[in-house]
Amino acid sequence: MTVIAVDGTFASGKGTLGKALAAHYGIAYLDTGKLYRATAKRVLDAGGNVALEADGETAALNLSPDDLYDPILKSGPIGAAASKVSVHQKVRAALLAFQREFAAKGGVLDGRDIGTVICPDADVKLYVTATQIERAKRRHAELAGYGEKLTVDQVLEQLIERDTRDSTRAVAPLKPAADAHMLDTTDMSIEAVLSAAIEICDAVLKQHD
Ligand code: C5P
Repeated sequence: MTVIAVDGTFASGKGTLGKALAAHYGIAYLDTGKLYRATAKRVLDAGGNVALEADGETAALNLSPDDLYDPILKSGPIGAAASKVSVHQKVRAALLAFQREFAAKGGVLDGRDIGTVICPDADVKLYVTATQIERAKRRHAELAGYGEKLTVDQVLEQLIERDTRDSTRAVAPLKPAADAHMLDTTDMSIEAVLSAAIEICDAVLKQHD
């Protein structure tokens, strides 16, 4: 059973990579950001406050699989709310079991703390990033596709705020695991990122055989 952890910064391409790696190896894929996004949406729908740990914990404990398919989860405001709700220890604890159960069956998980907290024994750990301006441009193009009208500068400002919050929080901050393989995707096409990642995974998995 193979577990591949794909962590990285916001809009780094880790989701695209995670999905493509899962398809390549014929294993399952979990976008763990969706769990935090769905939790944030539940809090907001209930009229709660994502800054309050108790509101976040209640939402996380009551999450249902159907919550994960809502297309609104991809929106900018929900992503920002997810980043706020994810700082709470009790929210992270409530979502831990689901992620560990998924990983126990093998698959690719993408997120922020997969290699460090959720699956410290993952077979392969990748850490994906790109410069802030490159990520802002990518996210800007994606948001335009959803009809959200923001300038690249506004997206960059939000991205810097998100990077800072994700990497400075006390619980499970965003950081590469000590044994993660680093992938800087700034000047790489999606295809080039995938083949670089497959090369790393094949080499590591061969050693495990
Ligand atoms: O990856 P995505 O942008 O969908 O994640 C939304 C937010 O959820 C992130 O900014 C981060 O704060 C949080 N998150 C997390 N741990 C994960 C995945 C996402 O804290 N494993």
